[in-house]
Amino acid sequence: MNYIGKVYRPPSEAYSFIVQATVGCAHNSCTFCSMYKEDRFAIRPLEDILRDLEEGSRLYPWKKVFLADGDALVMKTKDILTILKYIYDHFPAVEQVTSYATVQDILRKSPEELKSLRKAGLQMLYIGMETGSDKLLEKIKKYVTPKEMVEAFRKVKDAGFKSSVTLISGLGGLELSCEHAIESAKVISQAPPDFLAFLTLYLEPGAPMYEDLLSGRFQYMTPEESLYEIRLFLSHVNAPNTIFRANHASNYLALKGVLNKDSEKMIHEIDEVLSKHAFKPEYLRGL
Ligand code: SF4
Repeated sequence: MNYIGKVYRPPSEAYSFIVQATVGCAHNSCTFCSMYKEDRFAIRPLEDILRDLEEGSRLYPWKKVFLADGDALVMKTKDILTILKYIYDHFPAVEQVTSYATVQDILRKSPEELKSLRKAGLQMLYIGMETGSDKLLEKIKKYVTPKEMVEAFRKVKDAGFKSSVTLISGLGGLELSCEHAIESAKVISQAPPDFLAFLTLYLEPGAPMYEDLLSGRFQYMTPEESLYEIRLFLSHVNAPNTIFRANHASNYLALKGVLNKDSEKMIHEIDEVLSKHAFKPEYLRGL
């Protein structure tokens, strides 16, 4: 198998066969992200991808396959269809194929293209939303608007995909915290995903915001402020049946539940922890 650079995957894909369809991220400008800053974006030749799949299919009866890297959906639809057909022809035990996707990738595809990908067995898309605040989206160089996010999430749902969306607590610092929480809740309420994960900002060398942190131009929020932000989000979001998780290694408090059914319960858990100052210690946080 040929892996170029560091390969990232969502935590839930820990037991998946990972095939690198693209290298890096076509967007690669988000200022909080260090993942692919050293990689030059490329779409791998189809024959190389199929060769890796062939090798992988001989290793183990994989149930799940993840198409890496940062936004494999950027590939031409006909090439993704070829990959999907190869997977389903050569991985007899496969039950799920997933990939990361950016809002731009989704909007670039027609509804028919998305439906054809879904029909061919691409089941779920992982989408980094990060925030629903227009101001913050511009600041982090995400280059999409909240309106485009809603459109993309609806398009994905209409095509029959499951979607897993991530938000990042602390992304705008204390200054934009309320706006970040409330505007994110508005986007999610308009187009609820199947899964929603709230991570907490954890900057690493290579991310432009890491430089801002070192120079003092940006400050992390405290654990209390971060939990207040998630609390504010939970008190504003209306997304019945979305499975909510804030149990990533980066979070100060592990939360899980189903919106809206468990929203009050999770708010109560936050209040309890806030009153006791019982946060996860900093040394246990990480990615
Ligand atoms: S956050 Fe996602 S879209 Fe943004 S640069 Fe990183 S991998 Fe690319």
